[in-house]
Amino acid sequence: MRNYRSALLGVTARLRDVTHMDDPYEMQKQIQALSNEYATLASEIQEQFEKLGLKLVCEYCGLPITKPGALLFSPPNNRGICKKVHICVKCFNKPENDK
Ligand SMILES: [Zn+2]
Repeated sequence: MRNYRSALLGVTARLRDVTHMDDPYEMQKQIQALSNEYATLASEIQEQFEKLGLKLVCEYCGLPITKPGALLFSPPNNRGICKKVHICVKCFNKPENDK
C-alpha cells in the first residue's frame, strides 16, 4: 500500500514552497496542480478506508475512526432517546476550546 502520510507531507511541503514564488501566475498554476494531487490522495485514502470496512467517523474532525475512541451521549430527547456520537482519540485529547 502507498504511504499516504508521506505523500500528504510531500504535497504540504511543496505547497509551502509555492508561497515563496514571485510569479503569481506560476503560483496559481502550482497551487492548482497540488490541489488536484491532494484531491486524488484524499479519494484514494477514502477508498482504502472503505476497503477496510471502517464506517465510524469522528463527530469533530470528520475522519474515519481507526482505533477505539470515545463515545458521547446527548441528553435524552422528549421520547427519552439519546444520540450517540463517536470521537477519535486525537479530538478527545484536545482541549475543549479547540473542538
Ligand atoms: Zn476527530
